[in-house]
Amino acid sequence: MRIYNTLTKKVDDFAPLKGGIARVYSCGPTVYNNAHIGNLTAYIYSDILQRALLLGGFKVQRVMNFTDIDDKTIVAAQEKYPDLPAKESLKKLTRHFEKLFLEDMTEIGNDTKSLQFVRASESITEIQNLIQNLVKFGVAYTADDGVYFNIAEYSKKRKYGQLSHVDAPAEAKARIDNDEYDKESARDFALWKKQKTGEPAWDFEIDGQNMAGRPGWHIECSAMSVRHLGQPFDIHTGGVDHIFPHHENEIAQSTAGSQPEVYARFFFHNEHLLVDGAKMSKSKNNFYTLADIVKKSFSPLDFRMLILQSHYQTPSNFSWENLTAAHNRLKAWRNLAELRWQVSDVEDDGQQDIVKRLLESAKQALLDNLNTPETLKYIDQSIDEVSKNMAGLDFAAVNMIFDFIDKYLGIKIYDHTPDIADSIKELIVVRQVERANGNYGKSDEIREALSAQGVEIKDVSNGVIWSRK
Ligand code: AMP
Ligand code: ZN
Repeated sequence: MRIYNTLTKKVDDFAPLKGGIARVYSCGPTVYNNAHIGNLTAYIYSDILQRALLLGGFKVQRVMNFTDIDDKTIVAAQEKYPDLPAKESLKKLTRHFEKLFLEDMTEIGNDTKSLQFVRASESITEIQNLIQNLVKFGVAYTADDGVYFNIAEYSKKRKYGQLSHVDAPAEAKARIDNDEYDKESARDFALWKKQKTGEPAWDFEIDGQNMAGRPGWHIECSAMSVRHLGQPFDIHTGGVDHIFPHHENEIAQSTAGSQPEVYARFFFHNEHLLVDGAKMSKSKNNFYTLADIVKKSFSPLDFRMLILQSHYQTPSNFSWENLTAAHNRLKAWRNLAELRWQVSDVEDDGQQDIVKRLLESAKQALLDNLNTPETLKYIDQSIDEVSKNMAGLDFAAVNMIFDFIDKYLGIKIYDHTPDIADSIKELIVVRQVERANGNYGKSDEIREALSAQGVEIKDVSNGVIWSRK
């Protein structure tokens, strides 16, 4: 299997370091509002990575965190529940959005069952131990408002900027306490922030000083990933916006002093989802959640298909037009699956061989740096192949295709294509009788009634084929 590694800036061969188990850490959501479709894009691609690793013959241990303590969650909790004690309001807000996030994850077809979710709020001891160690190693110092990472000290032994190629700041001890900042602001960053009025705080004594407060965002992921996966672990995932400062700072925090030289062996970063070619933002009114998509009668899996149609390293573009195209592709797959209720099984060894070959190509495309557009191309070809003879299907060949789609693309076809109700079947028969008797007006009326119930019909030489719209 091959994966692009942001650390080496090339597509590298991948195999897990230990025991055939790929240990993967995915930066999870900051649970202070509904995930937007850009966030969900990152999680669809990392879910595909997990599936590709399985396809490559590896086992996978994957951890995802909930960022339930950071600048944004704290502000949102204070605004939403001003009368509750700070820790309680934070918990109430973040648990609510965790639940909504998990619902979105399931709806877009991501495998949440094999993911281990961890929370920053439940890793405070590990976070504090790591900070204590960084102070001991001489790469962290206390200030009036918290504990900071000392980039100049770190740089004496290790290179800061391995991932983002941002240079270590020339001016030592210029500090920043925001969790998020841009490349121009590379400087000593906050590991721990002393409590400000109204903020939640966890006890912490360091160098004899009372530092009750809360962790910075970057240290949370360093502590949680290594706690659950060990170090070095295999793959760290996130969107490209995480390269700097988040992942760069994680590397620095986890490789200082006597810690191992390598934090994560591979960094997997997805490009951003654009909306109508532009960055998504609330001010531009092009900011969507899954609920907005569902409101327009599209399914969350149509959205998944749209994302899979782009390679994770190219910015994908969301537009209603693109979503319609994705919907139509998924509809064609489902319509084929619906034929299983309507035609007989015709064994065709030659067809099975062709489908096997095409699925092998689909597999190789996925293993080659997750080339999902290419994978979809081979799936479409295999669907065309088995659809050649609509009077009968080779069910074994069809099952092979849908098994692949279900396991490796996360789109369950059979679950969404049950047989139609008997009342609809009866209506189809009544229409056929009316049509045979030349009552075309009546037969058209029935066609429209069926359409209103979401079923389309097509007259073929030996009867009628139905499909869902
Ligand atoms: P956050 O909750 O802000 O940390 O974001 C969750 C994940 O979504 C991170 O991996 C981000 O890099 C990713 N992300 C944010 N915006 C987009 C976008 N427009 N397209 C793809 N991924 C994104
Ligand atoms: Zn993270």
